[in-house]
Amino acid sequence: VPLCPEHPRGELAHVVGDADVDAIVAEASLADLVDGLGRRIVRLGPSVTAVGRARRRVMTDSDPVLMLYTSGTTGRPKGVVHTQASLRAQITCLVQAWQWQPTDRILHVLPLHHTHGLVNKLLCPLWVGARCDFGGRFDPVEVFERLAAEPFTLFMAVPTIYAKLIAAWDDADGPSRARWSAGCARLRLMVSGSAALPVPSLERWRTICGHTLLERYGMTETGIVLTNPVHGERRAGYVGTPTPGMEVRVAGENAAAAQNDGAEGELEVRGGNVFAGYWRRPDETAASFTDDGWFRTGDQVTREGGSYRINGRLSTDIIKSGGYKISALEIESVFAGHPDLAECTVVGVADDVWGERVALAVVPRSAATVTLEGLRTWAQGELAPYKLPTRLAVVSELPRNAMGKVVKTQARTLFDQAS
Ligand code: AMP
Repeated sequence: VPLCPEHPRGELAHVVGDADVDAIVAEASLADLVDGLGRRIVRLGPSVTAVGRARRRVMTDSDPVLMLYTSGTTGRPKGVVHTQASLRAQITCLVQAWQWQPTDRILHVLPLHHTHGLVNKLLCPLWVGARCDFGGRFDPVEVFERLAAEPFTLFMAVPTIYAKLIAAWDDADGPSRARWSAGCARLRLMVSGSAALPVPSLERWRTICGHTLLERYGMTETGIVLTNPVHGERRAGYVGTPTPGMEVRVAGENAAAAQNDGAEGELEVRGGNVFAGYWRRPDETAASFTDDGWFRTGDQVTREGGSYRINGRLSTDIIKSGGYKISALEIESVFAGHPDLAECTVVGVADDVWGERVALAVVPRSAATVTLEGLRTWAQGELAPYKLPTRLAVVSELPRNAMGKVVKTQARTLFDQAS
């Protein structure tokens, strides 16, 4: 169960408690972060070679091996359990699809508590014996300089990172631009995923370094399911065809119809990559699969020319910001406890760099004055930094339907003018 060192205590406590872990293994310098969570802490230092006497047993394919926490439409993040078999399938399917070689070398700039950074960028190179260099905290200039100076062969990131790289390139002087473009052009493959890649970003990147970014689609629960090809045409705005060992269909289709163009609806997925279930949530696990065993992704797709286009989430309660999947309900439930707020709602609003931004609309209690900064500071012990709202609308009432439920599509329009 990888933990994120940048998460505040509230997030760490939730994961540690929900996963019911026996012990937390932490580098000595990070151990303070998890002190006081009521678990045994194993401190790793340069001289530590043994972490205790472990029970030994032979692992089978169905043994759980990894649990990643992901947000859903039901409150706090839940544990996605992968088995030896499903994790191995995720890795080998990408090794095959993206032709990983022992001679590859990748610059790693993503967090390790999310599937993109952990599976695609770390476990794949480890599986083939390739080299993975950690880039530390993301800084666009540093990334460009490293890509220019060292013989990397691969790069993978979320669209927000490409947007920031493009902005840094635009701000750079002529010699830097030339050096950075040449460095990127040398790579054999550049991949984008975890959120929709805007077509203008794809086109811009092509003019900067000649690479047509390979866009792919996947989820924590399913690994990578659809990908554009390493060789062959990569269609802008499309996420390609199924990865090795995976099958997809549009909800309700039979096998014959799943080959036809023009279908539109919820994407359903089946195959070796798919997770075993949500940790200790049998009802949510059951609800996320169809009766005939396909996983419901919650994403709306269209199939055209044999390839898939992602049209967005079925639920307005899921926000994708900077590649992170964020539950609006989780943020609402935290701010519901704020003493100065009578009501609040959270929506995602479109943003060129972040994909979506977390936007909070509030009705203050009478006489209370609230500010975005004040609200962010108040919540920062409870919510990960990327879940904190970056837009605020202060209103006298929230848009509600006849049943009294907030109409999120209307709530989004509150931010058309708000800053
Ligand atoms: P996560 O489990 O955090 O990786 O989030 C998975 C979700 O990210 C998917 O269900 C999609 O909504 C979204 N997603 C991933 N890749 C793409 C993509 N290429 N285009 C659009 N949305 C994507």
